[in-house]
Amino acid sequence: MTAVGAALVFRGRGVSDGVAIGTTALLQSRDHEVFRFPVAESAIEDEVARFHEAVAQTRREIQRTGEQVRRQVGEDLAGVFDAYDLILCDELYAGAIETCIRTDQVNAEWAVHRTATALGERFARIESEHLRERGDDLRDVTRYLFRALQGISHHELSEIAGGVIVIADELTPSEALRLGRQGIVGLALEGGGPNSHTAIVARALSLPLIVGVGPLGDSLRDRQVAVLDGRDGTLIIEPDAATLERYRAEQRALTVFTESLARDRDLPAVTLDGAEVELLANIEFPDEIAEARRYGARGIGLYRSEFLYIEKSPNLPSEDEHCELFRTMLEQLAPHPVIVRTFDLGGRKLAREVMDVDEENPSLGLRGIRLTLARPKIFRTQLRALFRAAVHGDLWIMVPLVSCIEEVRQFREFCKDVVSELAREGVAHRAEVPLGAMVEVPAAVWIADHLARELDFLSIGTNDLIQYTLAVDRSNEHVASLYQPLHPAILHALRRVADAGADGGARISVCGEMAANPRYAPVLVGAGLRHLSMSPLSIPLVKDAIRRLDAAAARELYDDCLRLSSASEIESRLAQWESSLALSGS
Ligand code: PEP
Ligand code: MG
Repeated sequence: MTAVGAALVFRGRGVSDGVAIGTTALLQSRDHEVFRFPVAESAIEDEVARFHEAVAQTRREIQRTGEQVRRQVGEDLAGVFDAYDLILCDELYAGAIETCIRTDQVNAEWAVHRTATALGERFARIESEHLRERGDDLRDVTRYLFRALQGISHHELSEIAGGVIVIADELTPSEALRLGRQGIVGLALEGGGPNSHTAIVARALSLPLIVGVGPLGDSLRDRQVAVLDGRDGTLIIEPDAATLERYRAEQRALTVFTESLARDRDLPAVTLDGAEVELLANIEFPDEIAEARRYGARGIGLYRSEFLYIEKSPNLPSEDEHCELFRTMLEQLAPHPVIVRTFDLGGRKLAREVMDVDEENPSLGLRGIRLTLARPKIFRTQLRALFRAAVHGDLWIMVPLVSCIEEVRQFREFCKDVVSELAREGVAHRAEVPLGAMVEVPAAVWIADHLARELDFLSIGTNDLIQYTLAVDRSNEHVASLYQPLHPAILHALRRVADAGADGGARISVCGEMAANPRYAPVLVGAGLRHLSMSPLSIPLVKDAIRRLDAAAARELYDDCLRLSSASEIESRLAQWESSLALSGS
């Protein structure tokens, strides 16, 4: 953080383009499952009353428990609950919480959390062990109080108004989705990475996002005027009038630029030496289809169907809801294909209704096809809808996170079973639908030849492939520098899968974020990949890069890169290639 005049400037990493101007709303949740919410001045007295009600309720509960203990165990232990009661009435505790609600204008839960944390730290520094242990009492009382507050009423994300820039420590994809739908204009996260699903949601909603702004501490308040630049990762709090005007002008210029991108929508994506590359769109929400068409997508290369589950939560989408959605997508995109990925829940994309397990290490747990096979009833609903909708257009079905051939065979059996069931019931459907899998774990790369023989198509999900190959969490800012798309291991993997497709007769595409970056176009084309799927807005930029590329030269570049030993060497080789192109004027 730096101070420029009266303004505070934070720098993070821009991962969803665009400029947002609005007022701040701080949301914090990490480690304690308590959100910090701004409370309007007019609602402060209600919030204080809510806190008092929770205190009264907690005291009644503690007194009841104390009486019970006194009767059943004895006076000694019951004394603990008397101590709890004293804490609840103490000015240092209850008084400080009330002051925090009033002065910081925040929700009671947050004020309790703040006060208890500060007092807990003071207890931890006390020399006497006996007194230090009183810190445990404090934590316990605080837990009682949280429970009471939550029983009285909840603060919900839905309270966040439109037009604000949300600044949060972390946010799940579904929370980002809800906030985006509520009309917030920008998002800054303390942590996170460019390939996290939260970032993918932000891009899908055209919501400027910066990640990795670092711990914001107490430096910010709610309702401050702010500018967020999702291109270079800048967050400016209380900018001066000239800065504000400059960013307003940039917002206008960006709108003009984005509109101009649609101009070349009908130009083919062909390299200088005539290699055709098919560019398709990744979408998460059906309303992105309009954008996909506007920017010239030749179909949908990845529809992340799990977002339907996240949107419908806490209910599950029905077969008819699924079917209607797929039908609309197919009709709007005809004659182009729509590749629907079956729900990829689990990992960080949790939907409580489907995932009723609690996992220590969810990224290596029940996610992707593992979850779908473990929840056959839910999977059947989706597959029935897919085969039914397939009569309306060119629909393909793809399963995520495959790591062994048995999963593919089970998936195929499942499809067969669903098709026979529909036939038996006399329900209209199409039995012959291309079936495919994502290649996003190293094991799938190694068995790509087998996968290519048993499936019609494969799609390389570089987001997860990089994460699992390099053992780098795609959402963890602490290891973000190790998340290297140009790592030699990734380049070897791309070539291996491309070759496996050519040999096995399966169509190979790339639908991870690597495909969306025009800088990587020579690498992907050089690896022999000819089908790329990306966010709609990236299509014109990647198309432009492809039209200035010679595929044979890109192949030579790629072969050179395969001989190098590190991402930085490959990065330099790519930079050298770019400057030689610039010099030759192509
Ligand atoms: C990927 O892993 O590259 C991919 C496209 O899937 P997701 O980002 O949804 O995990
Ligand atoms: Mg993936």
